[in-house]
This record gives sequence, structure tokens and C-alpha cells, in this order.
Amino acid sequence: MFPGLPKFKNPIYLDYAASTPVDPAVLKVMRPYFSMAFGNPSSLYKQGVEAREAIESSRKKIAGVVGARISEIIFTAGGTESCNLAIFGAARKYKPAKKFRPHIVSCAIEHHAVLGPIKTLTEEGFEATILPVDKNGLVNSKELLKAIRPETILVSIMYANNEIGAIEPVAEIAGLIRQNNRERRQKHLPEIIFHTDACQAAGSLDLNINRLGVDLMSVNGSKIYGPKQIGFLFVRDGINLKPLIYGGGQERGLRSGTENVPGIVGLAKALELSQKIRESENRRIGKLQHYFISRLVKLPGVELNGPKPGILRLANNINVTIKGVEGEALLLYLDSFNIAVSTGSACTTGKADPSHVLLALGRSPLQSKSSIRMTLGKQTTKREIDYTLKVLKPLILELRKTNNFLL
Ligand SMILES: *Cc1c(COP(=O)(O)O)cnc(C)c1O
Repeated sequence: MFPGLPKFKNPIYLDYAASTPVDPAVLKVMRPYFSMAFGNPSSLYKQGVEAREAIESSRKKIAGVVGARISEIIFTAGGTESCNLAIFGAARKYKPAKKFRPHIVSCAIEHHAVLGPIKTLTEEGFEATILPVDKNGLVNSKELLKAIRPETILVSIMYANNEIGAIEPVAEIAGLIRQNNRERRQKHLPEIIFHTDACQAAGSLDLNINRLGVDLMSVNGSKIYGPKQIGFLFVRDGINLKPLIYGGGQERGLRSGTENVPGIVGLAKALELSQKIRESENRRIGKLQHYFISRLVKLPGVELNGPKPGILRLANNINVTIKGVEGEALLLYLDSFNIAVSTGSACTTGKADPSHVLLALGRSPLQSKSSIRMTLGKQTTKREIDYTLKVLKPLILELRKTNNFLL
């Protein structure tokens, strides 16, 4: 399409919010647990004990990073399962009845791993309030407080959004809920449990559960340079959840099934590494983000979605609406230049629906479909961004001419 543009020598990956490559140091610590220390962690002979020790030392490591007790870390098969366990687990201790319809509060830009379980619960008789967000994607904590009812049992608000990088006021909300719970105890009302989906936040924000004040927190490996299909749920002592999966009673009965030993070892290493370098990486990536966004919004018809770069936005996230350009067409053309980007969240690829997150910001369905997300990571360089800008400029003009995708 553009013979004048030389190809970049390496693929340019700008979708770190969808998945990250496993860090070589993570892969290295995982390796022995596939073929050498392969025992079942519940077995009593040497190979089993070795595997058990690997799990427990990983649990200790993770507990240390997030400031939790060792017994408060429950391993799961990823972010989706952690969120499902948190929400179904907290809700299904209650049975909806005519006299008492348990109520859940969440927000419109949550990941489907949270919205899906809540929708299912409403079909079982639970009630839910899905709070709107402002034009930047932020939840108003006073509005949240107003939504709380005597029947409210659970609040779930994400730490950081996967599509627009908005960072929600989780610590502030936790403080309000704690205060509310003190009053509720006196009135003999059920205490509210507060869950946060921290899958996007784990690589770049403070994860200390005491500073955050949350009761439940979901984290996964695949967004922090760890393996896929592994995650954990922080479950504050004293909170009882109903399990999703029944069987041999592993993970304090909350998650039966033989543990994913290499995954657990990899998750602990990945979390430790990413939390150690998060501040320096945020500074480095934040500069690239500022640069990228400032160049993008100078192009005619390009607007940023989500908060402006700074304390309210993840340092790696760029999401723009490009007037008159179909996001998916742009994605495919960029792929032909070896540049990987995303339209909305990867988890909903295949669905033609416009992003529920962009709609919640007040974008129209057409504007939502004219949007792309580019997320930066450990391997991103300024040269890659310069090349991407160089490709984007003529592509946008060309697609506007040929696409008949009008606003
Ligand atoms: C990726 C992601 C999930 C789902 O995690 P999986 O490990 O893919 O199941 C949930 N919430 C957020 C915010 C995410 O970014």
C-alpha cells in the first residue's frame, strides 16, 4: 500500500495489556517443575514434598509482596477465575428470597470476568447496581456510597481498566465501605465485602492490600510477564467464600484440583520482578506514552480516550478514537506492517459489538468502532513508536478516503 515506507526489522508489539511475553527469568524458575520436581503436591514422597515446598514458598513470596498473610493467598487458573471466585464466592453464601434480595454494586467499565458473573447472579435473583463512570472512566466514590442499600453484600470495582488505563479510587472506596460496615454492624446488617480486579494494575501500581484496604483482590500472571492460566485471589482472613470448584479440597477447599506447580512458581517470580521494577518502568514507559499521545492527538480527527497521562492513567496505555477510520481495518493494515495493536479488549475479539468501556465514556457506537488501543511494555522503544507514527499517518488518511466509514 505504501511502497515508500521501509519495513521495520522486528515485529512491533503494542498489545501488552492483552498479554505479555514470559520473562526469561520466570521461565527459568518454572522449568524444573515440568519434568524434574513434577510430583503431585499432595503426595508424601520426595517428589511430592518438593512440589509442595515450591507452592508454599511461592505463596509466601506473593503474600510478602502484597502485605498479606500466607493463608490469604489462593491460587486459581487466572484472572477470570479469580474474579469469578470472588464474586460468586461472596454472593452465593446468600440465597435470594422475596424478603431479602442480596445486592451487588459494580461499575460499567469492569472486565467481562466481573460483569459476566454479576449478570448471571441477577438471573438467579440477586440485584445489581452498575454505576456509570465519568467521561474519563472514573467512578465517583460518593455516587457509589449512595448506591449502597441495607441488602448490599458486595462491591466490585477494578483497580485499573484494561482498555483505557483509568485508575480507580480503590483505597478511597475501601475507606468508605469500612466506615459503612461499622454502622452496619450496629444495625445487624450484612457486612459489605469489597473486591478489586487488579489484573491490569499488578505490573505497575502499589499492590499492598493494607494500603488499598480491599477484602478480595484478583491478580493474574499473563499481564505481568508470567504464564497464562495462573492467578491468585487474595482473600482477607475472616471472609468465607463459597467455592466454585469441588473435589480434593486443595487451596483451603476454595479451589480443588492438582495445583499448577510451574505456573505458581512462575507467577510468584513474575510478581516479584514486576513489582521491583514498576517505578522505574513507569517512568520510562510514561515518557514514551506522553510522547506517543502528544503526537497522535496532533493528527486531525484523533482524540484520546480515558484520563490524560498522569496519576489517573496507567503509564502503558494509549487509546484513541480516529474519526472516519474503522478500528479493525486499521488493526489489520498495521498487522501487515508487523505492528500489533488492539481494538478495545482482546478478550472480546470476534464479537462485532462496540466496546462497552468506550460507550460508558459517552462515545457513540461508531466512535467506539473507530478506536484502537496501543499498550506499551518492557520491550517498547522510542524507535518503535516513531515507526508506528510514520505508518499510522498515511494509513489514517488512506482509510478515510477508501473506507466509506463515515461519522
Ligand atoms: C486479562 C484480564 C482479566 C482476565 O484474566 P485472564 O487471566 O485472562 O483470565 C480480568 N480482568 C482484567 C482487568 C484483565 O485485564
